Amino acid sequence: MRTLSKKMIAKEKGSLLTYMTAMGHEQLVFCQDEETDLKAIIAIHDTTLGPALGGTRMWNYSNSQDAVDYVLRLSRGMTYKAAISGLNLGGGKAVIIGDSSTQKNESLMRRFGKFVDSLGGKYITAEDVGMSPVDMQYVRQETKFVTGVPESIGGSGDPSPFTAYGVYMGIKASAKYKWGSNDLTNKRILVQGIGSVGEHLVKHLCDEGANVIINDINQEKVRKVADKFHVDSILETQLYDLDVDIYAPCALGAVLNPQTIPALNCCIVAGAANNQLQDEERDANLLLKKDILYAPDFLINAGGLINVYSELQGYNKEESLRKTTEIYNTTLEIYKKAEIEQITTHQAAYSIAAKKIADRKLALKNA
Ligand code: NAD
Repeated sequence: MRTLSKKMIAKEKGSLLTYMTAMGHEQLVFCQDEETDLKAIIAIHDTTLGPALGGTRMWNYSNSQDAVDYVLRLSRGMTYKAAISGLNLGGGKAVIIGDSSTQKNESLMRRFGKFVDSLGGKYITAEDVGMSPVDMQYVRQETKFVTGVPESIGGSGDPSPFTAYGVYMGIKASAKYKWGSNDLTNKRILVQGIGSVGEHLVKHLCDEGANVIINDINQEKVRKVADKFHVDSILETQLYDLDVDIYAPCALGAVLNPQTIPALNCCIVAGAANNQLQDEERDANLLLKKDILYAPDFLINAGGLINVYSELQGYNKEESLRKTTEIYNTTLEIYKKAEIEQITTHQAAYSIAAKKIADRKLALKNA
């Protein structure tokens, strides 16, 4: 065990509490187990609408502050994602610190499952980056508070195809709003990040005849996906100012910021990545000023959440697909609201979600 100075502990606790309070979180749980070398953080943002459901990401964060930042930002996003999608869920998220390709194993995942179980259902986990349905199956051995387990054992499986389909719906709605037609034939679309979601998205876009360009830090994946779908690829150095109709960020967050937005050469930004705006208000306004239509990430990437939510009530694939298709109409409604109220599309989506939570809080108070 490591010794810590009292001063250091006080400083950490003080700043963390202030931080999570400012973000509106209910609970932040640090999990550590020497035997399995598990280091994880679970963040529960808001449970007004229901239990906090959100995926677990395994990532090799260079320091624990980055992991805390990530889990606080993402769990907050999950609250608004569930609310705007009309789901009776709150927002939560978990991170396991480590390299998923070398450090992930059954004991680690089962130990993590025990920590999830100890929260008694206030937090329900699922897959995120670095996780698979099999990992969720390990977690299931220790807790019932897990979704996204394999279909073979009654689960909903990998949520990524549903996420990709929802993003595709969001892209089509954005095209309809911007150009009067949702037809993506010959539209130049840059997909950044061709992982579980990105690759499925590329397929939808190619099937519709879009002119897709892909980018990923994993060059082997780039070669594989480029060959499979006969699409072009581009290096990161030429990415942001590439002349395209639509930019679909499907890798990591904070890609829309004062460094990248001035360079953007597209009409629409619509992708799967969570927390694309580095600073929500500032960057949504920068996009608006450039007349770039921004599809709020937490709105159009909700397909996976919609699918795992269905698992909690007895999995129904058709119903998940129907609800995910609805993202098309909701996106158009958000755009109209933003136009009428002269606000950013992010603000429009956020205000609807926040109102749902406020109304529920009031109803609970008056009950
Ligand atoms: P993934 O790990 O399968 O894929 C991510 C891909 O992005 C990988 O191929 C990785 O090599 C690439 N990448 C990482 N950093 C990059 C960079 N700087 N530039 C280019 N490529 C980079 O993850 P995923 O499940 O496909 O999720 C992608 C994004 O969508 C994440 O932000 C995730 O949080 C979000 N999301 C996923 C789901 C889901 O159902 N999987 C649901 C909602 C949101």
